[in-house]
Amino acid sequence: MTRDTKVVRLAVIPGDGIGPEVVAATVPTLRAALEADGHRLDVTSLDWGGERFLRQGAAMPADAADLVKQTDAVLFGAVGRPDVPEHELIWGLIIGLRQQLDLAVNLRPVRAFPGVPTKVRDTDGVDLVIVRENTEGEYVGAGGVAHAGSGHDLGIEVAVHSRRAIERAAHHAFALAGRRSGRLCLVTKSNAMRYGYPLWDRVVREAGEQYPQVELETVLVDAMAARMIQAPRSLDVLLTSNLFGDILSDLAAVLAGGMGMAPSANVLPGADVPGIYEPVHGSAPDIAGKGLANPVACMLSGAMLLDDLGHTGAARRVRDAVADALRDTKHHTADLGGNATTADVASAVLHAMEGQE
Ligand code: ATP
Ligand code: MG
Repeated sequence: MTRDTKVVRLAVIPGDGIGPEVVAATVPTLRAALEADGHRLDVTSLDWGGERFLRQGAAMPADAADLVKQTDAVLFGAVGRPDVPEHELIWGLIIGLRQQLDLAVNLRPVRAFPGVPTKVRDTDGVDLVIVRENTEGEYVGAGGVAHAGSGHDLGIEVAVHSRRAIERAAHHAFALAGRRSGRLCLVTKSNAMRYGYPLWDRVVREAGEQYPQVELETVLVDAMAARMIQAPRSLDVLLTSNLFGDILSDLAAVLAGGMGMAPSANVLPGADVPGIYEPVHGSAPDIAGKGLANPVACMLSGAMLLDDLGHTGAARRVRDAVADALRDTKHHTADLGGNATTADVASAVLHAMEGQE
């Protein structure tokens, strides 16, 4: 080890379904990218997820956040099993852990790689990032069902938007836009919703005063859905709420070839807390165990992880190797219309990395 060797302490939560498959394809890629710079990857594998729930009655231990805080970052596969109640895994693990670590911002980049077929025409050059508020909005779980006489049940879902949460996401988005195109697009719905989204508009405009070099545009979410398909290249950094970010990022993933291509990061900007990096897709039980999963979303999540830890060279190496491999349809998995297995893609990416200077 040279004096400059840095060790990246990585917590890996493979999870369920295709989670372990895409993670197994990703870890060697990250290791090779770091080792090319003379650094090391130290992996702690955590058996959290559906199987642990069935064995021990909880998807993760009570001190999960403390364990994870001893590492630099978390690579997460996916959770979900048909024989485990969804909330035990969603709230009992992934959302629970995000909340315990207070990972306020969710980043979802979407990039069209040359050679990857898409269901939408003319996506060449698409390269955008959705910055999604990660803790509140329509997903706070406030409300209830009111029984107002027979046949008159009312499902009431209360959305909560706080200035603090909006500001955290906004500052991250403005800073990111400043490093990219200098354009930020705020996506809200202030014509129909009277309180939460007008607050978003105001708080984001105010935050923007600190970033005079960034041009702010505000777009209604319905118009954004259409624009994303009609003029995706007009978009660079998007800032939006938890609900709209959830919906728009699935839509945007289509521009890059689908869920197998969509990475994400959950981070708390400016704090020394490990982020959670994960493919946007879930456990995909329909294809699990068959070696058919596309590992690219997980690999690109790993590249985001390396970037955030300051290993930008290694991150670039991973992205370039993925791009190289994807240029050849021989390395496309079934979701992209190809015949390659998860392992085929993994070795193609490693091979491409060996060829880099
Ligand atoms: P979960 O309940 O964990 O979200 P899911 O059944 O909703 O699982 P998702 O992972 O959300 O599955 O994705 C929906 C479908 O998209 C899958 O059933 C699968 O067919 C396909 N898919 C998702 N991710 C991938 C991938 N990485 N490679 C190939 N196909 C995928
Ligand atoms: Mg799903």
